[in-house]
Amino acid sequence: MEINFCGRRALVTGAGKGIGRETAKALRKTGAEVVALSRSYEDLESLARECPGVQTICVDLADWSATEKALSSIGPVDILVNNAAVAILQPFLAVTEEAFDRSFAVNVKAVLHVSQIVVHQMIERGVPGAIVNVSSQASQCALLDHSVYCSTKGALDMVTKVMALELGPKKIRVNSVNPTVVMTEMGRVGWSDPQKSKPMLNRIPLGRFAEVEDVVHSILFLLSDKSSMITGSCLPVDGGFLAC
Ligand code: NDP
Repeated sequence: MEINFCGRRALVTGAGKGIGRETAKALRKTGAEVVALSRSYEDLESLARECPGVQTICVDLADWSATEKALSSIGPVDILVNNAAVAILQPFLAVTEEAFDRSFAVNVKAVLHVSQIVVHQMIERGVPGAIVNVSSQASQCALLDHSVYCSTKGALDMVTKVMALELGPKKIRVNSVNPTVVMTEMGRVGWSDPQKSKPMLNRIPLGRFAEVEDVVHSILFLLSDKSSMITGSCLPVDGGFLAC
């Protein structure tokens, strides 16, 4: 199955590291023009060196007005990957207001805001669009110390579905991918300790965590015309974890 994004322009958030970085690279490789947005300037600089032609935007998505300013002249976007997120792990009784506010600002509020900006101009241009929100298995399953993270991803799944409902008539499809653990920087923080990772692995029928590539392939599929009848879905990329 060949996927080709020639002639399309993509925006990927959280493209400095991990899944977002590899998604930006894969989109470029399959012909898209890519705008990579992230928080750390050095990551964007090294991405632009590694992947010539990628445009970069450096902004903290937790800052609503800075995001608005940074995206004010972004130009046309046909494909959006809302990937940036934070995972601040705290036991329920120790959750802080700061962790709650930052998590919801980045993982939910910024997704809504960036999507509004992009979708407004898709509608003005009268073009179809495809959006993938990077959610998690944590949206549908309770995990120790993840009360805030799980809540943000649960909220994100519902944002995805309502966006699909409202934007479908404009030919804009919206889906999410919901991966299991991936050993990126974020994954390592939560799951490097074998005492935590072993019980999780034991609950995954395929017996392994996801590779970054597993997630990127699913994102590309949902962005592409190969999934032209799919919208409002939350696709587990979890080796069967959520099914059992
Ligand atoms: P990483 O932490 O490896 O990368 C996240 C990227 O997002 C970084 O480049 C980071 O920049 C950027 N980012 C974070 N906050 C902001 C912000 N406020 N403004 C702009 N950019 C920001 O994470 P992953 O690649 O692992 O995660 C990507 C997505 O996948 C997330 O939505 C995550 O919830 C989801 N996911 C991850 C899983 C895992 O086990 N890794 C499992 C399931 C879902 P910087 O480092 O400079 O802050």
